[in-house]
Amino acid sequence: MAEDSQASGADESRRETIRKLLDAGLDVEAFPRCDSHEQVQAVVRRLQGLDANDLPGRLVVAGVTNFTVEHPEAELAQPCETCMYYLVHRNYCELPELDIPVEPDWSCRLWRI
Ligand code: SF4
Repeated sequence: MAEDSQASGADESRRETIRKLLDAGLDVEAFPRCDSHEQVQAVVRRLQGLDANDLPGRLVVAGVTNFTVEHPEAELAQPCETCMYYLVHRNYCELPELDIPVEPDWSCRLWRI
């Protein structure tokens, strides 16, 4: 239990850091959205090339936003809460190359159903 609350406290602190970076206008690459396997792989490779501690870099490359982005052509809302990588009970993105706390209405261009 104590470990759980430590983990959620750490998540909350990182979520706040991310929120501040995004609120400050971090210039993330939210477009183009990744529709094909090749596009996903290209973004994932760039994420893998980043320093493990480069949190702003991960947000930029994945195009993380603290609001839901709608896919411009598909007219499809892409919130974290409907993404296959979203852990609902933890509000967490478990895509290994991202591995960040999020909110249900956040979004990124690696969204997948
Ligand atoms: S991969 Fe999915 S859960 Fe992770 S940040 Fe992107 S949209 Fe959210």
